[in-house]
Amino acid sequence: MREKTIFELIVEGKIPCNKVLEDNDFLAFHDINPKAPIHILVIPKKHFRDFQEFEPELMAKMTRFIQELATLLGLDKSGYRLVSNCGENSGQEVFHLHFHILGGFELSKNKDKTNQQTLF
Ligand code: AMP
Repeated sequence: MREKTIFELIVEGKIPCNKVLEDNDFLAFHDINPKAPIHILVIPKKHFRDFQEFEPELMAKMTRFIQELATLLGLDKSGYRLVSNCGENSGQEVFHLHFHILGGFELSKNKDKTNQQTLF
């Protein structure tokens, strides 16, 4: 049987997290090792290994959740970066689908926007 990921254990309440927002389907919490002044992870409560396995219907709901979260954090005004690492070559480390929301700094000053190595 597959070993549960750390994010599934967080959903089950077996491991604590620094929660920001929650509803029936999704949970948002602070990344334990932030790569930006504001670094939040958004996960579905149901398990999906990565974005490639995700259900489009839930993605529609998750869009609304992320938009609400961004507003709550004031990032709707200042802007933010939304990232999901998908699969081995992307550098994904936790194999439970998650989106990184990164904000609180001006990424546009970084001319080479294709170079993600500085963030992940
Ligand atoms: P990824 O490389 O896209 O799979 O990102 C995994 C992220 O999860 C990294 O940014 C980690 O810092 C973060 N992370 C790992 N364990 C925890 C945890 N227990 N609570 C919060 N964030 C975590």
